[in-house]
Formats: sequence, structure tokens, C-alpha cells
Amino acid sequence: MHITYTAATTAAPNSANEDHLAVGDGWALVLDGAGRYPGETGGCIHPITWVVARLGIHLSSCLSQQPEQPLTTIARSAVEATMADHDATCDLSDPLSPGATGAIVRVRKDRIDWLVVGDCAVVIDRGQDGYTTVIDDRVDHLPDAPIVEGRVRTYSPAYVATVRNRPGGFWVLGAVPAAAEHALVGTLPRPAATQVLLCSDGISRLTERYGWGWQDVMALHQSAGPESLIRAVRESEHNDPDPQRWRGKRHDDATVVVIQVTDA
Ligand SMILES: [Zn+2]
Repeated sequence: MHITYTAATTAAPNSANEDHLAVGDGWALVLDGAGRYPGETGGCIHPITWVVARLGIHLSSCLSQQPEQPLTTIARSAVEATMADHDATCDLSDPLSPGATGAIVRVRKDRIDWLVVGDCAVVIDRGQDGYTTVIDDRVDHLPDAPIVEGRVRTYSPAYVATVRNRPGGFWVLGAVPAAAEHALVGTLPRPAATQVLLCSDGISRLTERYGWGWQDVMALHQSAGPESLIRAVRESEHNDPDPQRWRGKRHDDATVVVIQVTDA
């Protein structure tokens, strides 16, 4: 088995990149910082980028050092280690405390494991059998969620505080270890898969907002590499006739990793 990786990440224009990616021996991960709301501290003095980096470091370390552990166990350990990194003054019981959505893929000799939490995505190319897509869209299907109309359409922070990291709501990695058990996890026999894409929602908006199919995304990656996907996102965003119609930012950090597996 031979594994190669391609990857690209870019911040939204004029902002710090709150996405994070890492690859190791047979695994890859993407994180997307679950940003603060204006005027809310989330009980924590740390920048989102710090929280995302801590999560990324702990996940990478667990994936490298405990390759036999279930991904749920690895995610829980990484959340607990990240919580321990905060200062004593950080109130991690605040429901808006900073965290990240994430996607992890691990390629084994006989199978592919994945974990997805929040609005990151995993897309497995199964050749003639098509694509298996894993997208955690619970945040898009919250019952009676109130939308706040402003410069950006968004849920109100007071509402998010009642559904974030709660059963029936949605989950992010950061300050609640149980979020790991609420992630979407799965396994496919490895010979069925030829390549796997992981991305933040800054990339998956190509399919969710702009009418692309995953086969279009994979084909562009194949012909022009991962940066071409980010360019395609920016082009679609710039040409969007009505960006206010979407919940969320006009431009977002965009991150993609593609794992290609061949039998040597
Ligand atoms: Zn903190």
C-alpha cells in the first residue's frame, strides 16, 4: 500500500486562518475553528487559532502514538488534553467556549476509518461505486433556529448557547469531551477506496452553495491540484449575486486534504 497526500489551506481575505490541517503516517485531519460571536468571550482568554492549534497537536500526537485506538477515543483524549492547556481563569463550562469542527481519516491496510464532527466533510472515492460522503449537517437542521440578520446571517449567540454540545443540538471539539462520542464515525473496507478528501466548510460550499458535484471537485483536484479548489471557491464567492442569502460568512477559511491510496 502506498499513500500520498496533497493539501492546501488559505484564510479568508484579511483574516487569520482558523483552519488547521495535519497529515501523518496513514492519517490526515482538518479542523475549522468555531469562531467567537462579537461581544462574547466564551469564558476563555485564548484566541481561536490557539485552541485549534492545541487540538491539532493533541490529535496528531494521539494518532501517531496510539494507532490502534478508536478515533472516538483519540478525539476524546485530544479534547481533554486541550482543556488542560487552558489557564485556570478560563471557564470551560461556558457553552460558547471556543472549539473546532473537524474531520479525521485513518487509512489501514484493510480499512479506512473516519470521524466527522461539525461542518467539516469527508468524501471517499470508491471508483465505479461512486462517492461516500460524510457531512455532519446537524447545525443546519436545528429546530426553529432563530436567524439574526446583520452584515452576516447567523444564529443568535443566546440560542447557540442552548444547542451547542447538547443532545439534539450540534457538537464541536474543544471543551466537552463527550462531543467525541457524538461525532459521526464509520469504516469502509480499504480496497474499495482509491482516494479520500477531507475539507472544511470553506471548500464544501462548492457543493452546498454553488452547485458542484463531488465528482467535479475530485476532477478539478486531479487535474490542477488542491490550490485550484480554493481558487474555485474564491471565484464562486466573488461571482455570487446575493451572498447575504447564506447563513455564514461571504468568505471563509478554506482547507482541503486529499489522500491517495495505491496498492504497490
Ligand atoms: Zn482559554
